[in-house]
Amino acid sequence: MEFDRIYAEVDLGRIEENMKAMKEHLRPGTKMYGVVKTDAYGHGAVPVARTIDRFVYGYAVATVDEGLKLRRHGIEKEILCLGPVSAGRYQECLENDISLPMFEYRRAKELSDAAVAEGKTAKIHIAVDTGMSRIGLFPDEGSVETVKEIAELPALRIAGMFTHFARADEADKTKAGEQYRRFHAFCDAVKAAGVEVPVCHCSNSAGIVELPDFNMDAVRAGITIYGLYPSDEVKQDIISLKPAMALKSFITYIKEIGPGTEVSYGGTFKAEKTMRIATVSAGYGDGYPRNLSGKGEVLIHGKRAKILGRICMDQFMADLTGIPEAKEGDSVTLVGRDGNQEITMEELAEISGGFHYEIPCLIGKRVPRRYV
Ligand code: PLP
Repeated sequence: MEFDRIYAEVDLGRIEENMKAMKEHLRPGTKMYGVVKTDAYGHGAVPVARTIDRFVYGYAVATVDEGLKLRRHGIEKEILCLGPVSAGRYQECLENDISLPMFEYRRAKELSDAAVAEGKTAKIHIAVDTGMSRIGLFPDEGSVETVKEIAELPALRIAGMFTHFARADEADKTKAGEQYRRFHAFCDAVKAAGVEVPVCHCSNSAGIVELPDFNMDAVRAGITIYGLYPSDEVKQDIISLKPAMALKSFITYIKEIGPGTEVSYGGTFKAEKTMRIATVSAGYGDGYPRNLSGKGEVLIHGKRAKILGRICMDQFMADLTGIPEAKEGDSVTLVGRDGNQEITMEELAEISGGFHYEIPCLIGKRVPRRYV
């Protein structure tokens, strides 16, 4: 019997459609950074970057290694590392033209010294903390002075300045508005102090969809590239997005169990009657959330089948009641559409008590990605 165990199907055509939908919605001239960190939210950074390259001004990653991987695969546009980088990696960033976030004179000086030693110019984006309490300078007068001092360092070029919204995905945009106004005023103050800042950016996906007035010079699109909305409080009728990833597995074995038979670790499910059950070749070792145990459903022949008992590392069992046509080798949809039924990342997140961004990010390395 032939089967593939488990695979993630990534529809690059949908990613392209999602990019087009966003581009149409953005004001003309607004630049876009494609956020492809965490291997493009689990979709595969290199194929995704190649697909979106013609739409974007640059890319945002979270680690130096993510940036280097894109460079190794021929990505030439700007790559901005959003997370702080250890000084030991400055040389690689300089050699590979990776832009770094800066928010302290001390670190900027260290980077400038490294750039002088390499005979290169380091590209930086000033990170501003307007409400996340994460990295970033507070947007106050003292910080305007700090940015001025950083700008005067040799071998550094300020390529941009950014902040990050903490609550743009909520229906109430009051806090996002406050962050935007703080950031905008700070950008104005920095420019008024004579520092050139080519690109100011604050909008994430939620900002792109619902806050066009806050999009400034550039936006950073993440989850929307992959066809998911940032939250259920973000309106879904403004930009039409289609999920790019489906997760598919297979029935590897079918058996009948009698009343009183326990299923899986801990015997948390006990059959009350004779029933047909399937063993499915996916588990938490593939990143399929174990918290779906006994609660989640999968699609078999376009019908919903309940997960029985605990999900194991590599396998779980599903109830075939009402699906007499199911046979060994059949496809099992863990995420995606089958007939009239659909299981979304959001459904998995809700049932497992997780967060929908997390689901594709955590699909394991051993799960092959198939591109269509
Ligand atoms: N910008 C920054 C600094 C981020 O940390 C993230 C994601 O975590 C994004 C942009 C993209 O966010 P989203 O996926 O909600 O668009």
